[in-house]
Amino acid sequence: MISRIDLRGSVSDPRDLLPRAEFDVEAALETVRPICEDVRHRGVAALIEITERFDGVKLESTRVPEERITAALESLDPKVRAALEESIRRARLVHREQRRTDHTTEVVPGGSVTERWVPVDRVGLYVPGGLAVYPSSVVMNVVPAQEAGVPGIAVSSPPQKEFGGSVHPTILAACALLGVTEVYAAGGAQAVAMFAYGTEECRPVNLVTGPGNIYVAAAKRLLKGRIGIDAEAGPTEIAILADDSASPRDVAADLISQAEHDPMAASVLVTDSPELAAAVEAELETQVANTKHRERVTTALAGRQSGIVLVDDLEQGLEVVNAYAAEHLEIQTRDARAVAGRIRNAGAVFIGPYAPVSLGDYAAGSNHVLPTGGCACHSSGLSVQSFLRGIHVVDYSREALADVAAHVVNLAEAEDLPGHGDAIRARFDWTVPNS
Ligand code: NAD
Repeated sequence: MISRIDLRGSVSDPRDLLPRAEFDVEAALETVRPICEDVRHRGVAALIEITERFDGVKLESTRVPEERITAALESLDPKVRAALEESIRRARLVHREQRRTDHTTEVVPGGSVTERWVPVDRVGLYVPGGLAVYPSSVVMNVVPAQEAGVPGIAVSSPPQKEFGGSVHPTILAACALLGVTEVYAAGGAQAVAMFAYGTEECRPVNLVTGPGNIYVAAAKRLLKGRIGIDAEAGPTEIAILADDSASPRDVAADLISQAEHDPMAASVLVTDSPELAAAVEAELETQVANTKHRERVTTALAGRQSGIVLVDDLEQGLEVVNAYAAEHLEIQTRDARAVAGRIRNAGAVFIGPYAPVSLGDYAAGSNHVLPTGGCACHSSGLSVQSFLRGIHVVDYSREALADVAAHVVNLAEAEDLPGHGDAIRARFDWTVPNS
């Protein structure tokens, strides 16, 4: 069911040998370009038509009425409500501490630079709802935006046929718990275009965040610039670095847990133990046979993006997982905390047997919107920082400017931009102090 990649004795760059999902955002651009243009020019009428085509739902309006959001919370299963409340509480604890404070550096007496952190005015948070619905993604998007102090928060998620063509009630209930009242029933590229261009029903936003499928990622790429984006999240990934101390049952369960998201999801085990590899393969046979989304899981595990990678030792294992830069990385080895300290590239790291990715997906307090496709080597997951901009505020007195004037003029001349130098001279009666 899952293939093996034997890197033992290999000296090649592991990046060339490791499996990765085909996620050709460039190719999807051609599909989403006309969708985005249509929404740009025809607004709600275009959204209604596109939604009928892709989601099989005939909308009257894209905006979900506030009474429906309140009603969804009232009819929410109390067990789910308690779980969401705990998830929100833990996410707030972590994200509240991420807020950077404004900082002033006195460069010289009378000359200072302050870095002010200012939230964006308005964000559009995308919550996926194709194969599965993700009320947990409401929490992971809204909590950091709120902790950053964003004043305008709008959520969009695909309408669901089985719920009268509206957004899934658990997503609405999660919005209600978080105090979000502006929710739209729109999915895919059309939702991103709605946020970017605005419509008669939705004011444009400054930033769009949240995971989604290839059409969501392509629309984000296309519209980046007009809007800010967090990242182009691709299909979910789990990598597990394990030795013979790991439980094959737990490792198999964790590989399945992420394969369950999407047939394109990647589940990768990296181990120096052929015995563990064999035991995990046997466990996968048994557990997959009993899992609900068997078809999706089997496709994901059998795909070229998933595999069991055999390495010589822990050192090579570390090299492989650092090169792979997984969205989620579990360390199930002896002395897991020390091993985790040597990870340089991963969206999030989960240490030891009692920190499975499922915990992080829902209730560890960490964020689950994370970089995929190897982007963890240059990007971070969603955080309070994602919603803030740092503005440098420069405050210099006459004396402080005089002190550095000659350097500014000399650099301006070196760049053949004499107007820059004149802007300094003008303030000192066309002379250059201290020159
Ligand atoms: P989605 O909400 O991203 O996409 C559904 C929308 O796609 C539909 O509303 C439809 O309008 C549009 N669509 C479908 N077929 C189309 C077509 N042929 N052309 C144009 N548009 C089309 O839901 P999804 O498809 O289930 O994908 C969700 C993704 O998000 C999964 O890959 C999942 O792994 C990922 N995810 C990632 C994270 C993370 O934190 N990285 C969290 C949750 C989910």
